[in-house]
Amino acid sequence: MKFGGTSVGDVAAFERVVHVVGSQLDKMPVVVVSAMTKVTDSLLAAFDLAKKGDLAAAVASLEPHFDRHVAVSSHFISEGSPNLFDAELQFARQELADLLMRASRRSLPLSMLKDAIVSYGEQLSSRLLAEVLRSRGVNARHFDSRRLIVTDDEYGAAQPIVEETNELVRLELPPTLEAGEVPVMGGFIAGNRAGETTTLGRGGSDYTAAIVAAAIGSSELQIWTDVTGVMTCDPRICGDARTIPVLSYEEAAELSYFGAKVLHPKTIKPAVDHGIPVRVCNTFEPEAVGTMVLAESGEAPNKIKSIAHKKGITILRVTSARMLGSYGFMSAVFQVFERYRTVIDVISTSEVSIALTLDNTAEIDKIVSDLERLGDVETENGFSVICIVGEGLRASTGMASKIFSTIKDINVSLISHGASSVNLTFVVKEEFAADVIRCLHWELF
Ligand code: ADP
Ligand code: ASP
Ligand code: MG
Repeated sequence: MKFGGTSVGDVAAFERVVHVVGSQLDKMPVVVVSAMTKVTDSLLAAFDLAKKGDLAAAVASLEPHFDRHVAVSSHFISEGSPNLFDAELQFARQELADLLMRASRRSLPLSMLKDAIVSYGEQLSSRLLAEVLRSRGVNARHFDSRRLIVTDDEYGAAQPIVEETNELVRLELPPTLEAGEVPVMGGFIAGNRAGETTTLGRGGSDYTAAIVAAAIGSSELQIWTDVTGVMTCDPRICGDARTIPVLSYEEAAELSYFGAKVLHPKTIKPAVDHGIPVRVCNTFEPEAVGTMVLAESGEAPNKIKSIAHKKGITILRVTSARMLGSYGFMSAVFQVFERYRTVIDVISTSEVSIALTLDNTAEIDKIVSDLERLGDVETENGFSVICIVGEGLRASTGMASKIFSTIKDINVSLISHGASSVNLTFVVKEEFAADVIRCLHWELF
């Protein structure tokens, strides 16, 4: 059972988690938890402040978040009884002050310090949840994920080393479960072989949960969040978005790549490989069934499942007439992106030109300057990618015409269809995105 940040935002949220975990003790759950909502963002902001030299402001900015943890622990743990969490929090406060000071002085590699700092979100939330569950009679036991999930050294986006992780997880968790205890661990945080703290990338708690589920052969992976499953559209854009009862792994992966952040893309992989069903449920509505993600969803043709979108997209176009009739152009273009470790989302090509979209533009200047050796380069930002997903697109007739005639007044900058048989993706100016999505949602659902 994985609980996201909004599911552990405050006292009331912790109450809901206690209820949900308590109602499924017979299934022998392992609990994976994210940082309390907003804590990861605040730790990252504190790191940035310290890096810029404003150490005092960085340290002070975390106090309100420590207070939120204290409010929860003092609500559940009655006065007079030993409060292990408070001692833990004091320690974290000192450690964080020390790490922020190192960041301001750059006395250790910054990427390493950043992960060490940001890991306190999950270190604290998981210890707190274990104490809270214990205070309500659940036999919870905290595990430090940094000792169970072993990764490479790619700070900020570390890859788990599956064999070593499986070995550790299998050594620790099954005996704990058999002893009637409920393991509680932080998502997102891990450790490299040298024991230094790493993290799995934003939204990575889902990934932790999937890795653990796969390692111990769970019968189900439950992702507990603040919406009732994966919906036909982001409910913040369309008030009438509906829960999708069943999704295939492929559909779920496409949706999450293109911005439906309710499921982390990588969650899908360990679960698919082990045939573990994933259920997305709502802590605010625990009795609702939510969405089941299964290997195959077996839907009828022409059935669209959902519309995902991602903002802040840059389009980059490279044109090289001198490459006409010669080979190697695409490969040369892709090598540039590989060199700067930049992910491409959507691509559309002709023989001598290529248009692609990026959401990470950290290295854009260097990328453009290298690409200019191949041809003319144009970049334009302020776009949104909109992605329509459904197994039904595989054998559909007239679907593209229905979609594009619905939005015929909008200029579409780039279209990609057919690479994955379950999605149709296009790019529009960001200011039109919400309207386009609402129109399509109305028409398709
Ligand atoms: P958590 O903190 O539980 O990990 P996230 O914020 O990562 O939760 O994901 C849940 C959010 O994803 C929802 O609040 C919702 O606004 C957003 N979201 C975007 N697209 C969708 C979608 N298609 N269905 C459901 N939620 C979506
Ligand atoms: N706390 C981390 C984040 O905000 C991981 C997660 O919530 O899944 O990205
Ligand atoms: Mg999430």
